Amino acid sequence: MVSDNPYVIVGGGLAGAKAAETLREEGFEGRVVLICDERDRPYERPPLSKGYLLGDEERSSVYVHEENWYAEKSVELLTGSRATGLDRGAHEVELEDGRRVGYAKLLLTTGSSPRRLRIEGNQLDGVNYVRRLGHTDQLRESLAAGGRVVVVGAGWIGLETAAAARSKYGCEVTVVEPQPTPLHAVLGAELGNVFADLHRKHGVGFRLGTGVTEFTGDAKVSGVRTDDGSVLPADVVIVGVGARPNTELAAEAGLAVDGETGGVVVDARLRTEDPDVYAAGDVASFPSERYGRLLRVEHWANALNGGPLAARAMLGQDVAYTDLPYFFTDQYDLGMEYTGWFAPGGYDRVIMRGDVEGLAFYSFWVTGDRVVAGMHVNLWDDGVGPVQELINSEQPVDTAKLADTSVPIADSLKG
Ligand SMILES: Cc1cc2nc3c(=O)[nH]c(=O)nc-3n(C[C@H](O)[C@H](O)[C@H](O)COP(=O)(O)OP(=O)(O)OC[C@H]3O[C@@H](n4cnc5c(N)ncnc54)[C@H](O)[C@@H]3O)c2cc1C
Repeated sequence: MVSDNPYVIVGGGLAGAKAAETLREEGFEGRVVLICDERDRPYERPPLSKGYLLGDEERSSVYVHEENWYAEKSVELLTGSRATGLDRGAHEVELEDGRRVGYAKLLLTTGSSPRRLRIEGNQLDGVNYVRRLGHTDQLRESLAAGGRVVVVGAGWIGLETAAAARSKYGCEVTVVEPQPTPLHAVLGAELGNVFADLHRKHGVGFRLGTGVTEFTGDAKVSGVRTDDGSVLPADVVIVGVGARPNTELAAEAGLAVDGETGGVVVDARLRTEDPDVYAAGDVASFPSERYGRLLRVEHWANALNGGPLAARAMLGQDVAYTDLPYFFTDQYDLGMEYTGWFAPGGYDRVIMRGDVEGLAFYSFWVTGDRVVAGMHVNLWDDGVGPVQELINSEQPVDTAKLADTSVPIADSLKG
């Protein structure tokens, strides 16, 4: 009987683990099965390019739950088990080893995978992608040997690993990026330049407006060829050129995948078009009323909050996912939190407030006369709370007041 089947979660990252936790917290007494293709129990990924890469955080601290938590909560954790098929008619998940796991309700939290460069030399030793604990273990070893590091891609992972390679391991670091500034698509040129300056102050070199065409070397990488034909010598290469959502299971089972955002389409309850199948975390594209479109968010807080919300929805609770996108990073002495959303280039201006040079400021992205996104750097007393209030108010702001540190942020609202 379908109704006797367990609640099954495919994907043992943060979203999946938090969903399992929530099912138990909400009093669900049926079987819960969590299917993970990795050997490790669920862990958090942000430390992989920060604290754990730097050696400041112990391996034991990255896991979402203690090892014995799963047994204590009667969550059946299947590690090293890849789900290869989804039979929606039979309500079964097929595993790589041929087992079939029946489900009453199913949650897909399969996350995303690094986008791979399809260029010559991509398979050489010393070319690193960072998504899993094992990747960071390998990278730590390579960086500890020192030498020249070339980072491909000035996105979050590229910049965080560049900071670690430079500040902790003392490597010579060059970042290659086709856009004119780091973080161009996500923050725009104004803030991209703030990050470029920060890295330059720490001795990182940039090759901006430059693409990569080949990794040179025999068995091991020795250089990175750029699109002007020159070769940057490299002992270690780190590639951070984005991620793509793991939607194969859903797509092969006939569930809708959004052409623009690339994720499994869900409604505000994080439910797919199949009433017994839900999706959360990096893999899900959910409707945002605030921005009037589907969003797919590849950030920690979306997994942390989306997994639990999907679990509540699976239990029949009347819930809706309305969280604003949120992101944080740590690089050298810069700690930042960002909230909101805009399409690449989709804002009219950026308002700065505070001490940009001294790395203690807010910035706000404004479209028309409304704030659509904002961030703070090192202003932890108030954090992003005031930014969220401005965005959620959907009211016009007085940008002169917004820039003026003697006026409380909330008082910049015109309404
Ligand atoms: C190095 C790094 C640093 C980051 N730093 C930050 C940060 O500073 N701030 C921030 O906000 N966000 C950060 N992120 C993003 C954040 O970690 C992700 O948004 C978050 O991990 C998403 O969680 P998830 O549970 O949706 O997916 P994932 O963490 O990707 O977990 C999905 C799991 O499902 C498994 N899986 C996939 N397919 C199958 C299958 N068919 N069968 C079984 N298992 C399967 C995957 O192997 C994986 O273990 C970082 C990400 C990385 C990689």
